[in-house]
Formats: sequence, C-alpha cells, structure tokens
Amino acid sequence: MIIVMQVGATQVQVDGVVGYLRDQGVEPIVLPGQDNTAIGVPASLDAGQRISFEALIATLPGVSKVTQTSHPYKLASREWHRENHFVDVKGVRIGEGFVVMAGPCSVESHKQMRAAAEVVKQAGATILRGGAFKPRTSPYAFQGLAEEGLQILRQVGDEFGLVTISEVMSPEMVELVAGHVDILQIGARSMQNFPLLIEAGKSGKPVFLKRGPSATIDEFLLAAEYVLSQNNPDVILCERGVMPLDRTYVRNTLDLSAIPILQEHSHLPVIVDPSHGTGVARYVLPMALAALVAGASGVMIEMHPNPKEALSDGSQALTPEVFTDLMQELNRVRAALAAS
Ligand code: PEP
Ligand code: MN
Repeated sequence: MIIVMQVGATQVQVDGVVGYLRDQGVEPIVLPGQDNTAIGVPASLDAGQRISFEALIATLPGVSKVTQTSHPYKLASREWHRENHFVDVKGVRIGEGFVVMAGPCSVESHKQMRAAAEVVKQAGATILRGGAFKPRTSPYAFQGLAEEGLQILRQVGDEFGLVTISEVMSPEMVELVAGHVDILQIGARSMQNFPLLIEAGKSGKPVFLKRGPSATIDEFLLAAEYVLSQNNPDVILCERGVMPLDRTYVRNTLDLSAIPILQEHSHLPVIVDPSHGTGVARYVLPMALAALVAGASGVMIEMHPNPKEALSDGSQALTPEVFTDLMQELNRVRAALAAS
C-alpha cells in the first residue's frame, strides 16, 4: 500500500501517519519525493482488513490518497523508490551518465587479461569483465579458470585501476567471488536461482543481474527483489537478449524496449549487453548505439585481444580495434545527444 501525502504536507503530518502505522504494528517506509512525500506499507493485510485500514488512513491530516501497489515486486519498484538509484563502485557511478563494461567472455590467462585491460583502459571504459566460472551449454566446453581466473582479474584490475565484474554461479561460491571482484554478475541462466540471489544479496556487493532468456519483466524484477530483500540496494539490471524466433541470424533477440519499460517501473540502473544480445560481433556496434539512444545507463561488451583464439564466445567478441571504434562512436553520439 502507498500513502501519498498532499503537496505541502508538513513533517508533523508525515510523522503523524508514520506514528499511526507503527501503532498498528506495521513498519512504514518513508519515500521522499520532489513535490510530496509518499509512505509505503509493506504489510500484507487481508482484503477486509485492508479496506477499513485504507479508509482510516485516508482521513489522517495531510494524506492525499491511499493506493495499492500495482506490481508484484515492491522494493524493485519505482513506487517504493521514486528517485533513480546510483550504484557507486569505487567512484564509478552506475546509473549516472553512461558506463562501459568490457573484456573477454572468459579469463584465459594473465597475458590475455592484461592485453584486454590495456585496450579497455586506453579506450576510456571503466569496468573490466571476465568470467572465471562459465555457464557452458556443454560440459565438455571450457569451464573457466575458477579461482585462478579471479586472481588474474583482480591483479589486472588493480594494475589498470579498473572496476572488476565476474559471474558467480552458485550460492557456495559467492564468498569466494565476492572476495576478489567489485561486482557480482548473476548470469541469465541463473536469474531464477533463488538461493544464489539471496546469498549474493547478503554479500553486500553490487549485483549485476542478467535477464533470463525467457523471463518476463515481472519475473526479472522479482529476481531483483530477492537481492534487494537482503538489504542490498545495489542491483544493476542487464538486458541481454531473449529467446529469438529463430537462430538463423542471431543468438538472442535484444529487447531494447525493456530499457524504457524497466526505467518506468523500477529505479534500478539498466545496462544492455549487445554481445550476448546478438551473438554476432558485427551487430554489436549498432545495438550498443541503439541502447545509448534508448536511454540505457551503459553497455557490457565482450572484447578479446584475439577473438579467433577465444575459448568462449569468440564469434561475438570485438577485436581491440573495433572496440576502440565503438567507444569513439559512443562518445560521438553522446556528444550529439548532449548538444541536442
Ligand atoms: C557472459 O556474460 O559471459 C554470460 C554467460 O552471459 P549470459 O548470462 O547473459 O549468457
Ligand atoms: Mn560470454
């Protein structure tokens, strides 16, 4: 339930409503807004109780109206958190401006990560990616370097002053991964691994949550809700493409409409991954630009020093040259948007 206070309601009136709710045994959440304050009530009341409760609250001084939340998620909802949320990772503010996260699909060696980080840094990106635990369709495919991969990512990230992000696939591994990287990535296949979401939430690290390949917007935001419900406000949403109608031309269909939809219904930053979103290196640039223009807070790009030799996702990895071009194109479009 959301109680919307009148424009100009006094602090005494807000405190009065809060005090009344507490007397009723519910713990309200005060949601300050630009024009007026709203008060969220997380308690689940049965329909009968709710109607009489609502009617009473509506008569309290300073109350404008009482409404029901219209979504199954609460903490992930803009109704509960009206201002945009920024996730601050070592001074990189995700949700403000436009961030680029880039690097290879998998950490393969120290030499490979160093080469990748050099390009990422030089091109002006701030976050270095690299998977150490890889969710592979086949058990015979390269599974990642595990802890050694995390150590490499951390060393290289520190050397170049880049924020690091890597995937965690199971609840038992959260502590290990969180001990090495700045941001925990939860992959598309794990979006509904609820024990993992809870454990990642408890870690207190920012959580980069990828949308499942067939997840609806509500399912995606409910997955975010699991993390938020662990008192961890730092969730970053990532649209990375959904199941395509056919796989003749693309690996996934990048759902760019998810950007404004998520932004309308949630306060959490939205990042787009056009690499997994298309699966084809030459489609990454146009889709990254489209994400920028559509209002995303950043992109995650797979780039490999030598894509032909990549141990995973080589066909969607950009070469260092194309990645550098992409960064320049993004800057050009950003400047044009700022000037318009
Ligand atoms: C990845 O980022 O390398 C990855 C496996 O992504 P997704 O979970 O979106 O498939
Ligand atoms: Mn990948």
